Amino acid sequence: MNILNIILISIFLALIIYIILSKYLSESILENVSNIYYMNKKELEEYLINDEDNYYKDFSDKDFKARHVNNLDEYYNNIRKACIDISDDNKNILNKCINKANYKLNKYQCIGFDGSKCSNLEWKIGLVRDKWYEEGYPHTRNNLIIIPISLLNNKNQLISTLIHEKIHVYQKTYPEDIEQYLKENGFTKYKLRKDYNNTRSNPDMDEWIYKNNKDEIMMAEYFDNPTSIMDVKTIPINSSKYEHPFEYMAYDITNHI
Ligand SMILES: [Zn+2]
Repeated sequence: MNILNIILISIFLALIIYIILSKYLSESILENVSNIYYMNKKELEEYLINDEDNYYKDFSDKDFKARHVNNLDEYYNNIRKACIDISDDNKNILNKCINKANYKLNKYQCIGFDGSKCSNLEWKIGLVRDKWYEEGYPHTRNNLIIIPISLLNNKNQLISTLIHEKIHVYQKTYPEDIEQYLKENGFTKYKLRKDYNNTRSNPDMDEWIYKNNKDEIMMAEYFDNPTSIMDVKTIPINSSKYEHPFEYMAYDITNHI
């Protein structure tokens, strides 16, 4: 046997070992993450259209206009186009990023937020495509986290988004903790959002408009003829972080960890 044959056989054997090992490792990662639930297309469609958290119930005319639909039936059709199944490859990407998000969350604590309690909550994930539903922006519905499939191409951005959205799930799960956070950071209830019909609906917030610790109102108001859910001006600072204390908290903690 000449030296070239030995090298070729060695490369071939190394390749086989690599393939077997990488398959074993990816399977063991799938097994390692226990508190994740991935919704399939059918479940996700039903969940979103069911509207258990009454998100669409309070849509204003401008909410519909910004979404280019006239009524809920038209919106349900868009939701059906948006929902997709999650492939095993995409579950693997999400599992790895959820592990990293859990690791970061676990280390963080402040008044009104316990990162380890947050990471221990179930990760319930649904995947959407394109801009059919909520223009493809990540958000939560109850404890379900909606992620656009395009985000899976950017792991760092995906980890930050998973952390941000998991904080919204925490806010919905532990209202007593959030009361503490709001008090500690000087946020106070101002008016119910339903009494103020120009604000953008957002499923990550509660039903209140708040004031910050400088007594400034926080909200995102639609422009006159919105053609996008981003056609808003946010006060007191024109950035999504200042739309509501829940957004402030999610952005602020994500930046710190
Ligand atoms: Zn948010």
